[in-house]
Amino acid sequence: MALNRRNFLKLSAGGVGGALCAEQAGAAPREPKKLPSKAVGMLYDSTLCIGCKACMSACKEANGMPPETTGQPTAMWDTPLETSGKTLNIIKLYRNGSADHKDQEINGYAFMKRHCLHCVDPSCVSVCPVSAMTKDPLTGIVEHHADRCIGCRYCVMSCPFGIPKYEYDEAFGQIQKCQFCAHLQAKGQIPACCDVCPTGASLFGAVSDLKQEAQRRLEMQPGKDYEFSRGQLGAGRPGHVAHAPKYLKNVYGLKELGGTQVMYMSAVPFDKLGLPTHVPDFGYPTVSEGIQHMLYKWMLAPAVLLTGLAYVVKKNTDDANHDDHQPAPDKPSRKRKS
Ligand code: SF4
Ligand code: SF4
Ligand code: SF4
Repeated sequence: MALNRRNFLKLSAGGVGGALCAEQAGAAPREPKKLPSKAVGMLYDSTLCIGCKACMSACKEANGMPPETTGQPTAMWDTPLETSGKTLNIIKLYRNGSADHKDQEINGYAFMKRHCLHCVDPSCVSVCPVSAMTKDPLTGIVEHHADRCIGCRYCVMSCPFGIPKYEYDEAFGQIQKCQFCAHLQAKGQIPACCDVCPTGASLFGAVSDLKQEAQRRLEMQPGKDYEFSRGQLGAGRPGHVAHAPKYLKNVYGLKELGGTQVMYMSAVPFDKLGLPTHVPDFGYPTVSEGIQHMLYKWMLAPAVLLTGLAYVVKKNTDDANHDDHQPAPDKPSRKRKS
């Protein structure tokens, strides 16, 4: 078949269409990422949290963050309403009706701590075009590297938990998010928020140990006294003794979106505390990267398209050049006229 414009368009449509059909038929999600071998994490137990916000102050001090008065502009203390370029960690309050009882959904209240969950398969890392977001292959800490960042804010849009924040109020704004106090961990210390928490509501440890601890808590008898570790699980610090609450029977972060290294326990449903609950058991990058890989696999179609386009452009250019050097048949040439 001669490759004229009409045939070329037919071929291109067929090639691209074929690639798209193949993608629909065979675009398999890529394998989910696995928890790194030395993954560190945090267990936040909402039932142990007393809302003292010591963790927020410690976070600011450890990360050199200034106070924020977004909630009350004339306030004389730190009053952020949400995580931001100046606040990497925030304690929020859930309240319902008369809010008489702690850890009760109806007519009760509960606390919730929000910061980066250090996802096992993080969307922010997947979408970053310049690898400014990275996940440590050993510890699993998800870090933002300001020196590589181009400020595109894809990470802000991709995070299912709304965590990375851009400093819109700065002339040369940066992305900010909890880095799990990687700078302290590098010196053998633990994250500042876990270090200061008086009740062990924010508890640091190896993810595998924290999962076992969560299971221990799920098996506790509500109302009975138990000891809860403070700071770092198993590090020997005197514990905090409290009544066991009536926990929800699931731990948030074990499977949500492929798992997170910051996990949550609560007596109030997680959606009431602001966590997305209608989410799949796999990270979104398993699907988006699967489709990307399939498109790359079918790069043949765009290649044919480009080759054909180049051919058409070249042919048109040659024809135009040829026309420039030939006299128009219906017009007498100037030479002949003269
Ligand atoms: S919570 Fe958001 S910012 Fe943190 S690792 Fe997951 S996707 Fe990235
Ligand atoms: S781990 Fe560090 S940066 Fe993250 S919330 Fe805790 S204190 Fe803040
Ligand atoms: S320091 Fe502990 S108890 Fe106090 S608000 Fe933070 S997580 Fe809750």
